[in-house]
Amino acid sequence: MSERPLPHRIAVANQKGGVGKTTTAISLAAALARGGHPTLLLDLDPQGNASTGLAIARDQRQAGTYELLAGNSPLIAHTRPTAVANLAIVPASPDLAGAEIELVSEPRREYRLAEALTSPRIDSSAFAYVIIDCPPSLALLTVNGLVAADSVLVPLQCEFFALEGLSQLTRTIELVRRRFNPRLSLAGILLTMHDRRNNLSDLVATDARSFFGEKVFETTIPRNIRLSEASSHGKPILDYDPRSPGALAYLRFTEELLQRQQPLPAQE
Ligand code: ADP
Ligand code: MG
Repeated sequence: MSERPLPHRIAVANQKGGVGKTTTAISLAAALARGGHPTLLLDLDPQGNASTGLAIARDQRQAGTYELLAGNSPLIAHTRPTAVANLAIVPASPDLAGAEIELVSEPRREYRLAEALTSPRIDSSAFAYVIIDCPPSLALLTVNGLVAADSVLVPLQCEFFALEGLSQLTRTIELVRRRFNPRLSLAGILLTMHDRRNNLSDLVATDARSFFGEKVFETTIPRNIRLSEASSHGKPILDYDPRSPGALAYLRFTEELLQRQQPLPAQE
């Protein structure tokens, strides 16, 4: 038992695939870790891209988020160190693919992850931050992520139709707040894959800002090939190419996020 406070838990969610959730989760987690905050990245996507992106080999994923959701064993049993100092991961275990269906008939199915992270038997207080990489859906795994989180961070790809579907996501966040987790706040919307040479990118950014106002982070993540190279090399961008525009943008974004959290956001 520890008297240290629970870590701040941030879910990275958007039901669209390919919008930059995993890249954001890895880059943010690595930047926090580098800033001296012990951080845990939770891979809640059965595709396991966050695990691959941090070079966790498949044979090291036997215990992971599935076992954590199944309950009863200490967090530490599922946590793996990464090559980044201060950064640990709970990888997506192979069984996670079936979790969505298996959990449906379980009691308190929406609270599985929340309980796993707050149970006194499962000491998560060694971490200052937990970053939860959600799958591209609004189904039970993402709901578990939102119920377990203090705030939700929404990456928005600067592409056509980016805003479409956001109302569905907003409704899900509202529903989770009302029914399961009144504490959940919107950490903000992060514009990703912005392409300076493409007018459409600017149009989407302007639209998002006029619609969501200050909820949109000032920092925009540019489209930068180094970011996709980094994950295929199993490294966060900060290690792969610390001077790349992608790395600098994610560092700036992390600072902005930390600033926004001080003082802690008022309860809505
Ligand atoms: P999601 O988790 O939402 O599905 P990913 O983070 O996996 O999205 O990103 C989808 C793809 O786009 C990946 O191949 C990733 O490497 C690439 N990618 C993500 N962000 C950027 C960026 N800013 N610039 C270029 N490629 C990116
Ligand atoms: Mg992903």
